[in-house]
Amino acid sequence: MFLSMVILLILLTFVMLFCIKLVNKRVVRNRKSVVHLIWTAVFTTICYTAFILIPSDRPFPAYFAAGLYFLATDWLVVYLMLFTSAYTHVYPISKAPRRIIGFLAGLDSVSFIVNAFTRHMFELEIRHSGRLNLNYWHVQLKPPHIAHRIFVYLLVLYSLVIFTYQLIRVPNIYKRKYGSMLIQIAAVVGLNIFCAAMNAKFDYSVILYASLAISICYLALFASPRKLLERIHSTIVEDSVIGLFAYDNEGNCIDANRAAKELFAVSGDVYAAAEQYLAGWLETHKNNPANVIGSEQTLMQNGEEKNIYVNYQKFSDEKGRTLGSCFQFENRTEVVQKFKDEQYRATHDVLTGLLNRDSFESEVRRILSSANEPYCMVCSNIQDFKLVNELYGAETGDRILAAQASIIRKASHEDSVSARIYADKFATLVPKKHFNEQRFSESMSEITKSGLVDSFRLHYYIGVYDITDINEPVWTMYDKAIMAINAIYGSYEESISYYKDELLQHIIKEKETLGEFDRALEEKQFHMFLQPQIANSGAVVGAEALVRWIHPEKGMISPGFFIPTLEKAGLIHRLDLYIWENAAQKLEEWKKKGKEDLSISVNISTKDFFYLDVCGAFRTLAEKYDFRIKNLKLEITESALMENVREIMKALDGLHAIGYDIEIDDFGSGYSSLGMLKDINADILKIDMIFLQETKNAKRSATILKNIISMSKELGMTVITEGVETKEQVDFLMDFGCDMFQGFYFAKPMSLEAFEKEYFAG
Ligand code: C2E
Ligand code: CA
Ligand code: CA
Repeated sequence: MFLSMVILLILLTFVMLFCIKLVNKRVVRNRKSVVHLIWTAVFTTICYTAFILIPSDRPFPAYFAAGLYFLATDWLVVYLMLFTSAYTHVYPISKAPRRIIGFLAGLDSVSFIVNAFTRHMFELEIRHSGRLNLNYWHVQLKPPHIAHRIFVYLLVLYSLVIFTYQLIRVPNIYKRKYGSMLIQIAAVVGLNIFCAAMNAKFDYSVILYASLAISICYLALFASPRKLLERIHSTIVEDSVIGLFAYDNEGNCIDANRAAKELFAVSGDVYAAAEQYLAGWLETHKNNPANVIGSEQTLMQNGEEKNIYVNYQKFSDEKGRTLGSCFQFENRTEVVQKFKDEQYRATHDVLTGLLNRDSFESEVRRILSSANEPYCMVCSNIQDFKLVNELYGAETGDRILAAQASIIRKASHEDSVSARIYADKFATLVPKKHFNEQRFSESMSEITKSGLVDSFRLHYYIGVYDITDINEPVWTMYDKAIMAINAIYGSYEESISYYKDELLQHIIKEKETLGEFDRALEEKQFHMFLQPQIANSGAVVGAEALVRWIHPEKGMISPGFFIPTLEKAGLIHRLDLYIWENAAQKLEEWKKKGKEDLSISVNISTKDFFYLDVCGAFRTLAEKYDFRIKNLKLEITESALMENVREIMKALDGLHAIGYDIEIDDFGSGYSSLGMLKDINADILKIDMIFLQETKNAKRSATILKNIISMSKELGMTVITEGVETKEQVDFLMDFGCDMFQGFYFAKPMSLEAFEKEYFAG
């Protein structure tokens, strides 16, 4: 019994020393108080062990060891109290009580040391145990010892109360921790009292001191409550957005969390449903040696496609035997959708849903790099789209573009790609054999009937480039298709055009023209030529002003080329103003010379109405120069009149009010000539030369001419026919009642000097 007690105490001492080592190695909350407590327990145990081992003939060391043992118990309870306070945070002990307690413990300690000499606290007697056959020290307590006991019990009471309080207060899962502390402390006290009361040979409570210290160490190190952890884990699993299905080693589903149930939309027996859903996957993964396998899967659920990331994980024991497995499903539908949306936005034009510029380029490259048939690049453009936006608002503009995109999509073959490059410019790459010119133009004209814009006639241009070199940069192909458009841009008769190499030459020439225009105007390289107009009496009554560019290097350039170029570039009004002024100046000069009966007709381009206050310009001329206003006649082409009826009519009214005569030029070359006559209040009708050209239908042309002339007369208009080249033409026109003639038969356009020389001679 004695021996086993000693061995036990030594053993406990080693365990406690080991505990101290552990606590020092790990990150432990309240480490200081735990270490202090264990050290005092070690000290107490060693002192007590020493005391009981001291032979009966050595009283002084026995007194000394017993004194140390008692004082150690003082400090043990002091550190227990400090540990309780630090561990529970309930009623923390402030500095002052700490000092008082320390002082009292110190006093008690001194008292026990002094006891070796004074024996006022206890006395030792040698007793013999017959049963154990052993002499042992019996501690005879003296009354002052009671003070020590009270001090110790009071401190222990503090810990008991605090732990009881905690036990009541904390949630169930923590109760075990505080309960075990409480029981152990109570047991120590109980045993201590019991041993004292029973005059026991040994103070068995020492064993409990040591075990209390060890269990506190355990609490500090490992006491993460298992139930709490379980609760935390299960809550996390249940609330996780990742769906989980757990299986046992035989493949039976044993658990599924909420996300899993929602994902598979199973109701009722979720486990059976899960097994049915996952049986296939489970089977394929079962024999895979890898522990974790991930894969992307799509799942159809109520007609909705779900993107899920499936992770399959196996759990094995240390010998590699399968314990179970688990499927994790991450619903990535939203993420995938978001990614797809972003990708779509990055590669598509939001307004029309067609590809955007950049992705069109890469798509075209991709297709052409593996092309084994000829392709063509088709571009389209709306005439004056800017104007549509200005007149009808950007919203209508957008709707037109969206409608155009859907038409393009419909008209395009499935092997083609289409994009909106910018503004109203669309491009399509299509296999040549699938490009149907007629179908494409017809579809495009559908939009003009869509009713999106009422009076504004939308006109489309389609440019086609047959790709000859697939390695050409995509934007060169596009530019070539656009060049084809530019070649017909502005014309109402044409809407589709193919790229030819000459176009490139033409464009270069256009660029040259525009580059030189300013200087040419400044240096007066533009000259007003005159083509005489002859009355049916044979007298010259006037002339048409036709511009000629006398270029210092290239010689005379005809307006047939540079006028359309200037019109396209929005520069024609500057040239026209210049010619109009020349004409007014000339009329003033002629008036002074007494040639007051001669008139000059000047041309007004459609574009002049966009860039100029035409009415204001002619008012200024009338004010600036002294001429008979009726002698400056204004030619406006029939097609110009059809374009902007309302605005142009307003301008014409203004010009009439000033006193100018208006002449409809190229009458009969357009489509709705007759209808237009009803609205336009013109003074002179200039019949286009197409009616005089040699055709198989000469007779029909003559009939039309005859009727136009007689109709004009009835409307009170003067009629002039241009392009008269032969005597016969003059004769029959004369018969029909034509008032005036202009044409090569009489004279070609000539310089002013030539004109004046020819007609002013007499
Ligand atoms: P346009 O106003 O119809 O002018 C008549 C054109 O027919 C002139 O060509 C003239 O030279 C030509 N012509 C006259 N008689 C005959 C004939 O008997 N047979 C044939 N085959 N042709 C004849 P041009 O001078 O080359 O002018 C071409 C066009 O350029 C004009 O057509 C006019 O639209 C425009 N244009 C000329 N000068 C000006 C100008 O100062 N301003 C504007 N805006 N346009 C102008
Ligand atoms: Ca003319
Ligand atoms: Ca004409």
